[in-house]
Amino acid sequence: MANSWELDEDDIQACGYLDLSTFALGAETKPPMFNEVRFFSGNPIVKDDNIGMVHSIRRINWRQDTLHTFSDLLRLTLEHTGLDIGAVVDTLGGRLYGQVSAKILERLSDGDRMWQLRDKLDEFLASNPENRDDITNWIAEAIGLSNRTLESSMSVLSPMRFLEEHGSTVHFGASGALVDVSCHNCHKNFLVRVALDKPDFYVLGAKAYRFPGLKYQFTHAGGAGLLVKDRCNVGRFVWGTPTCACPKFEDIEIPLHDLPIPRPNNYEYGQQTSKEWRPVISETMIKS
Ligand SMILES: [Zn+2]
Repeated sequence: MANSWELDEDDIQACGYLDLSTFALGAETKPPMFNEVRFFSGNPIVKDDNIGMVHSIRRINWRQDTLHTFSDLLRLTLEHTGLDIGAVVDTLGGRLYGQVSAKILERLSDGDRMWQLRDKLDEFLASNPENRDDITNWIAEAIGLSNRTLESSMSVLSPMRFLEEHGSTVHFGASGALVDVSCHNCHKNFLVRVALDKPDFYVLGAKAYRFPGLKYQFTHAGGAGLLVKDRCNVGRFVWGTPTCACPKFEDIEIPLHDLPIPRPNNYEYGQQTSKEWRPVISETMIKS
């Protein structure tokens, strides 16, 4: 049986990736801020932003329905941000759902939506997890994640629906996780959606490096990066924009030997429309 951080053919099918086992980045639309490259032992050395160290890993059941996945992500977000609406929007909308925070804040600036949202978040925290679907729905709608009002450049689908069509996690199915990254300068913590290529015990303590400026169609500008430990890639992220302005650029060696190789997916459902195809339910890869 495959290890929990690896995918076999059945897992790829169950996760719903239509072409690759990795989340496609799309075309590069902006170059990195630092484009000078040196080489050491065949590996490129580039200037990167060391945004912090992974000090905990959170697992989500990505196969549950979209609303309950959102509810879990909202709960974890609020553990980090409290009722600070700006931080909620940056974390939940930006780093977990890949949306532009400014667009969400613009949506919330209409009337007294901002205050209503704060009340609903308070209500969510006080509610029983078994009985909070209405509140959760309201919050997803208000932020614009369950509808198409944010007009995301990634897809014509709503942000939640877009992720659902990718197996609810942007990376590697069950390897998708959230990590807590802590800035080594100001010690602020923030949540990042990641794909992990190694088991959790190995990933803990890895450093998260983002490429300033670099943007692809499906990433935030400067939001894509790697988790590196002991000169090995242990994970990656695409929406990992920083929360603090601490200066932390440094030269890093990018280990190329262990980068996961995208695999073609020849399943028939790849030729169907997303409406016709539904994910195969499989709990075999879910970690509690
Ligand atoms: Zn900092």
